[in-house]
Amino acid sequence: MKVSSDRRKKQAEYQRKRKRKRKKMGLCQSCLEPIWKGVSTLYCEKHTIEKRERYLKRKKMGLCIRCSEPVINKVLCEKHAIENREHSIKRKIKRKKMGLCFRCSEPIWKGVSIAYCKKHTLRAKEEYRKRKEFDIRRFKAWIDETHRTWASKNSLSLKKN
Ligand SMILES: [Zn+2]
Ligand SMILES: [Zn+2]
Ligand SMILES: [Zn+2]
Repeated sequence: MKVSSDRRKKQAEYQRKRKRKRKKMGLCQSCLEPIWKGVSTLYCEKHTIEKRERYLKRKKMGLCIRCSEPVINKVLCEKHAIENREHSIKRKIKRKKMGLCFRCSEPIWKGVSIAYCKKHTLRAKEEYRKRKEFDIRRFKAWIDETHRTWASKNSLSLKKN
């Protein structure tokens, strides 16, 4: 039992190494063709299209894009959604340690942001501003609405009296 899990670990390690090596050399992960530059960072033209088609097909059929489990209004099953989330959290921690942007792999805009590069700091600020404006608008609408209901209630009670 132990032997087989050790072997599996070694195999996974080997595959990781191979993946990294191929990426470095600019070769497809599924064959040894050069990657499709500017489109994919992992696959050649043929395999990029193949992966994309499979993704779209599974998505359309309501299947998890990783394991083909049926899903509803999602692209990942529960197990893979959790895995994905954990992976992205780990990546965030790693990037933060390395001083890289959370959204891309550019260096962090030092002295300004602790999480994003210049481009993404500006974008995050813009998003925040929009959200804030939206909230104020919603708040105003809510006040208006309350005022209106209050006024109509009041006028009703006035009529009653
Ligand atoms: Zn390929
Ligand atoms: Zn899955
Ligand atoms: Zn960035």
